[in-house]
Amino acid sequence: MGSMMDLNQKISKLKNLEGKFSENFNSIFEVDCSTGTMQIPPTFESKICDYFGEKDENGHLIEDKAKILERIKNQKIVKIFNKWTNQGALFNSLRTERPGMKNKNEQEARDKLKILIRESERNCDFCQASIYTPEDTFGRIEGKHSITAANVAKYDAWSSLVIFKNHNPLKFNLIEFSDYLDTGFNWFKKVFQEDESYKFPFFVWNCLYKAGASQIHGHAQILMSKDYPYARVEHFKKASLKYQEQTGRDYYPDWYQLHSTLGLAFSTGEFQVVASLTPTKEKEIIILSTISPVENQVLKNIIYKTLRCFIDVMGVQSFNLSISCPAIDQEDDTPYVINLVDRGSLFRPTVDMGGMELFGSTVVADDPFKIIEILKRYLNSS
Ligand SMILES: [Zn+2]
Repeated sequence: MGSMMDLNQKISKLKNLEGKFSENFNSIFEVDCSTGTMQIPPTFESKICDYFGEKDENGHLIEDKAKILERIKNQKIVKIFNKWTNQGALFNSLRTERPGMKNKNEQEARDKLKILIRESERNCDFCQASIYTPEDTFGRIEGKHSITAANVAKYDAWSSLVIFKNHNPLKFNLIEFSDYLDTGFNWFKKVFQEDESYKFPFFVWNCLYKAGASQIHGHAQILMSKDYPYARVEHFKKASLKYQEQTGRDYYPDWYQLHSTLGLAFSTGEFQVVASLTPTKEKEIIILSTISPVENQVLKNIIYKTLRCFIDVMGVQSFNLSISCPAIDQEDDTPYVINLVDRGSLFRPTVDMGGMELFGSTVVADDPFKIIEILKRYLNSS
């Protein structure tokens, strides 16, 4: 398994093996590796070893103190910048090389979550969506396992919800998940029929509080943007157009190929699955497709399994899943882009984003090399 900390070594190895690899890599990314150092006063040694050392299930340190201190005193930082999209990420060895992906209090968190979800079922408006939610002027789109509702506080002129029939947002099978997508995409078509100037569909599932959901009951946001896609989607579209104009090549295939050569991506049929070198936040997986997710069962299955891997294997509780789409009425090279990020434990009081993420570069703890391996293993075994 690779590691972000060995990225530069990997790149120089590939330099001789893969023709123009480093030239291609450097045309999109800039990587800088450095070491941050510090002095630790002896009075602080025990405490800091306790914070960062590897422990057994009883909470006893099982790592040599000198080794822990060495790790803390010399922290390797890998800084990556995408020159076309202007995305930047900072990886720190102290975070990425921490032992194990799983939180040791995971079972406790799972139990707490079960109680929280069960208790929120009482007086849940979304459990009776047809009575306690507003509907669009054209009515509701209904699937077997989901129904639409107008968003009571709209994000945009066309801003509604796909409300899942199941209250528990983390409990869904492939048939149910497919139905959520179908209902959302049927709503996109209906809105376009109502007003043809709204043509850019955006599907976003904020699962639980940490991801921005106000209701525990499973639901996704569905929006149609007028004239041009939402800002971030437009940003990536413009970046890929600029790349094409200046290099004469297509951005996404090149971007994918670099990730694939490094071992950070794979393709399944016509779809590409990538653990991004410059993730928006923890564990980001990006899936690219030229086909709409509702028109292809294989793609639905990949998205579904990626979600299940996040929840069942990686212990993710709160996540954002978005699907950005090309204009509904025209075929062009814009791919469907599916983004998925982990938003952290519901029971940890801190939030995962601070000023760095909002105004600087993203600080990332999870190593994309580990994430893609876990996902690959899961997809191969299930
Ligand atoms: Zn409910």
